Amino acid sequence: MIDLHTHTSCSDGTDSPLILVNKALSQGVKVLGLTDHDSTQGWDEAKRSLRAGLQLVPGAEISCLTKEGLSVHMLGLLFDGENPAIIKMLAEIKDNRVPRALKIIELLNAAGFEITFADVEAAKPAGATLGRPHIADALVKLGVVNSRDEAFKDLLHNDSPYYVSHLAPLPADAIRQIRAAGGVAVIAHPSSSLRGRSLDVDSFADMAIAGLNGIEVDHRDQDSREREVLRAVARELGLAVTGSSDYHGTGKMNQLGECTTDPAQWEMLEAGADQRRVVTA
Ligand code: AMP
Ligand code: FE
Ligand code: FE
Ligand code: ZN
Repeated sequence: MIDLHTHTSCSDGTDSPLILVNKALSQGVKVLGLTDHDSTQGWDEAKRSLRAGLQLVPGAEISCLTKEGLSVHMLGLLFDGENPAIIKMLAEIKDNRVPRALKIIELLNAAGFEITFADVEAAKPAGATLGRPHIADALVKLGVVNSRDEAFKDLLHNDSPYYVSHLAPLPADAIRQIRAAGGVAVIAHPSSSLRGRSLDVDSFADMAIAGLNGIEVDHRDQDSREREVLRAVARELGLAVTGSSDYHGTGKMNQLGECTTDPAQWEMLEAGADQRRVVTA
């Protein structure tokens, strides 16, 4: 079982890297992608926790914005975590999440929801990439809503009056940085990112020119019709097709290994990295 997209408490997942690795081992995952939002913080603990039978694919899910302002998530896999340019890019995105959260809190306060930045900080593990899920957790703790899901449905979704985006690279720029650092780039859940907007095939062609290696097709947020469209785009552009869980622990319904990647597609992706960076015990 190959699952290339998961989160830990280093971003908005709820399992530590150690717990994630143990779950992957006990649930029959053979190849595990660790892709926290805008962070490589969990890599070392995951590497130390590995045991025979599980291969680790170090990665990150990089927050991007299109020039139209749409949020796109780019999975970078197997890049050199010591590459200065990618370290700088991830740090800038992470830093920009703080003023953005402050703006969201300000908008919520103006609408009468009493929540402070300290509440949000308290809901976030130290060092973790700050995101709306932590604002959601703070709202749950304050009794404003009952769950993360309810917080997103009522207050924090992308079309909400309280939504604010944060500074982020263009998808093509993130792809170029990932590739320059020796890794491979896979666009995460593209239809869910673009939901409600028409899927622009030209933008995939532009990303392919920038060096995109694959498209995440099988993901719970994409229905069968969307998956067929994406599969056709991948075929046309010669890109790999992946499937993954986007596991977040108890932070989301997604179960480890609920969607998986075909071994031949993974082989094709892995061959795109500049050196063998899959980690084994
Ligand atoms: P942000 O990165 O701060 O814009 O927050 C986006 C993150 O929120 C996504 O990566 C998801 O993990 C999470 N998210 C989105 N919708 C939901 C939901 N309904 N329930 C829980 N988490 C969600
Ligand atoms: Fe997330
Ligand atoms: Fe995502
Ligand atoms: Zn994700």
